[in-house]
Amino acid sequence: MTEGAVGRGDPDRGRSEGAPAPRIGPYENFARAQKLGQIGWWRLDSRQNILTWSEENSRIFGAEPGAPQSYQTFLEAVHPEDRAYVDERWMAALRGEPYDIEHRIIVDGVVKWVREKADLEFDEHGHLIGGFGITQDITDRKSAEKALQWNVRRNELLSNTAARLLQSSDVQGVVTELCTEVMQFLDCDVFFNFVLADSANRLRLNAYAGIPEAQAAEIENLDFGVAVCGCVARDRERIVAEHISCEEDVRTALVKSYGVQAYCCHPLMSQRKLIGTLSFGAKSRPTFTLDEIEVMQAVSHLVAMAMERLKMEQALRDAARRKDEYLATLAHELRNPLAPIRSGLQLLRRLDGGDPKAPRVQEMMERQVDHIVRLVDDLMEVSRIRSGKIELKMEPLDIAEVIRQAIEASEPFLDASRIALMVRPPEQPLHVEGDPVRLTQVICNLLNNAAKYTEPGGRVEVEAYASGAEAVVSVTDTGVGIPPDLLPHVFELFAQVDRTRDRAQGGLGIGLALVRSLVAMHGGDATAESAGPGQGSRFVLRLPLLAQGAARAATDVGVGEVPPAPERVLVIDDNEDAALSMSMLLRAMGAKVRAANDGARGIEAFESFLPGLVFLDLGMPGLDGFETARRLRSSPAGKAATLVALTGWGGEETRRRTREAGFDLHMTKPASLEDIKKALSFARAC
Ligand code: ADP
Repeated sequence: MTEGAVGRGDPDRGRSEGAPAPRIGPYENFARAQKLGQIGWWRLDSRQNILTWSEENSRIFGAEPGAPQSYQTFLEAVHPEDRAYVDERWMAALRGEPYDIEHRIIVDGVVKWVREKADLEFDEHGHLIGGFGITQDITDRKSAEKALQWNVRRNELLSNTAARLLQSSDVQGVVTELCTEVMQFLDCDVFFNFVLADSANRLRLNAYAGIPEAQAAEIENLDFGVAVCGCVARDRERIVAEHISCEEDVRTALVKSYGVQAYCCHPLMSQRKLIGTLSFGAKSRPTFTLDEIEVMQAVSHLVAMAMERLKMEQALRDAARRKDEYLATLAHELRNPLAPIRSGLQLLRRLDGGDPKAPRVQEMMERQVDHIVRLVDDLMEVSRIRSGKIELKMEPLDIAEVIRQAIEASEPFLDASRIALMVRPPEQPLHVEGDPVRLTQVICNLLNNAAKYTEPGGRVEVEAYASGAEAVVSVTDTGVGIPPDLLPHVFELFAQVDRTRDRAQGGLGIGLALVRSLVAMHGGDATAESAGPGQGSRFVLRLPLLAQGAARAATDVGVGEVPPAPERVLVIDDNEDAALSMSMLLRAMGAKVRAANDGARGIEAFESFLPGLVFLDLGMPGLDGFETARRLRSSPAGKAATLVALTGWGGEETRRRTREAGFDLHMTKPASLEDIKKALSFARAC
C-alpha cells in the first residue's frame, strides 16, 4: 500500500500510526476543490482592464498560470466553429442577459468541451465594471453523452434494420436502402454487398453505394481470393483493413483506388454456408472503433438471415408450383386411359352379353369409372384454380334455378344413400351475377358431401333466402358433423376431418376448397357450422344480390333428345384404344365411322370419306390436332364439317386455341355419352 493511499483514503489509520495530520489552509482546500471538480474561476476588473485566471482556469485553457489574459486570448482558444456563438452570447451578457453556455475549445490541438457561467457587474449607467465567472471542463460528460446518443441511435438502427429486412420481399432494394443508412451512421463513404454467383468461387455485386456506375460495372463479378471481399469469401473470415493509404497490400489496392482509408468486410453466412459478403469503407479516417465494427457485424448477420429467409420462401413457392404442375399432369394423364374405358363400357352395354349378370357388372364398372372421372376432374379443377386459369362466364341468374340444376345432378347420390331431401325455395326470386355451371358445381359439391357424410335415413335441407344485399343458400344435414377444432380447416385444400373413416365414397379433400375459391371468385363467401360430431353440419353460401331490374332468369341448357346420327363420322386419335372404342360406340349409335391414328392420315381419310363430323385429338405427334383442324378447314368440305376437339386439357387457354384453330366444339376426355350426343346433335343442326 502506498503512502499516498493511506493519507487520502484512511486519515484515522494514518493518525493511529503517529503521523501528523495534514495541515491544509482554506486556500489549498479551495485550489484542490477546483482541480478535483475541474472548475476554474476568472475575475474581470473592467476599470483597470485586468482579467485574472485561477490556476485551474489556466490549466483548462492550457495557459501559463498567472500570465496576463484578455477576452481576445480567451476567444482564440474557442473552437473556430463555436466562436461566433460564444461572442454573440457574451455580447448578450453585456446587455444584462444570463451567461451560461457550453462550447468547444482547442488546447494543444485537442478538442475539449467547457461550460462557462458568469456574473457581471454594472455601474448605475449600465456600464460594465467587472465580473466573476467559472469555467468547467465537461469533456468527459460530453463524451459520455455522445456515446450514449450513439448507442441509442445504433440500437434504433439495428432494430429498424431487422424489422425492415424481416418484412421485405425485395431484399435487394432494402439492402441498398438500409446499408446506405448504416453507411451514413458509421460515417462511411462506400458499401458493397456481394452474393455468390451461379458459378462456384465467384461473387456477384448485388448492392453498393459510393462509387460511380462505371466503376461498379468493373467489379460486377469478383473471383474468390481477389481483393478484400474475394479473400473474405474464400476464407470465410472478416477482414479489417486500416491506414490503407499507407499500405502496399494487393488485397486493398482496389478500395485504395476509390480513396478508401479504412475498410471492413464480413462474410455473410447462413447455416455455416457462405452466401456473400458485406463491407463498409471510410475515406475520411484511417480506423474504425470496435463499436463500429460490431455494428457492421450485426448488420451483416441480419442481411444474411433475410437473404436466407427469401431463399427458403422462394424454394417453398417453387415446390408449391411444381406440385400444382404435377397435379395438372397427373390429372391429364389419368384422363387419357379413362376415355377408352368409358366408351368401351358404354359400348358393352349396347352389345348383347348373353349373361344376365353382365348388365349389373357393367353398371358397377360405369359407376366406379364415373367416380374416378369425378376425382380426376376435381384434381384438374384445383390445379386450374390455383394457377388462376379459371374464367367465369358471368350472367344474371336466378338462384332457385341453380339449386334446381344442382339437385337434379345430385339426386342419384342422395337417393343411393337413402337420404330425404327438403328444399325451402326463396320467397321471391334471388338474382345474382354468376357462372351457372360453376355455381351449380358449388351447390352440387355441398349436396354430395351431405350425402357422403350422412347415414342412410338422414335428412338434408336446402334453403335459399335474401339477407340484406346478399343471397344466402344453406345446405344442412343430420350427418356425422364436424369437431369444432377442425371446423375452421374444412375449406383448406386436401383437408379431411377423419382420414380413417370408411371412405367408399370418399374424395381427395378438394371439394370444399373448390367451393370456397369459386364462391370467392363470385364475390361471396362460404362458411361451415356444426355443433360437433354426430350433430350434423350446415354449409352457408353468401353471394351479392343483383340490383333489381338487372336480373333475368337463367336458361336451361339441357342436352335434349338423342338426334339421328349424321351419316359419316371420322375419329382421329393417336391413342389406338381411344380411337377404336370411340368408333365402336359411334357405330353402335348408327353412324358410319372411320378412324385414323395421326393428323396426316386423318386428312387423307377426310378427303376420301368426306364426313360431316370429326372427333379430333389435340396432342398427337407430327401434325397435332390444331394444325390438322386448320388444314381441314382450308378445303370447302372441311369448312362445312363439324370439328370437335377431344382432349385431356379443358383449360380456358386451350379452349381459346381450339376456337382459333376452327373447332366448333371442345370436349374433355373421356367424352360422356351426353357429350357425344351433343356433338351429333350439333353436327345435325349445321
Ligand atoms: P372430401 O373429398 O374429403 O369430401 P371436401 O373438401 O369436400 O373433401 O371436404 C373436406 C372434409 O370436410 C371432408 O373430408 C369431411 O371430413 C368434411 N366434410 C365436408 N362436408 C361435410 C358434411 N356435410 N358433414 C360432415 N363433414 C363434412
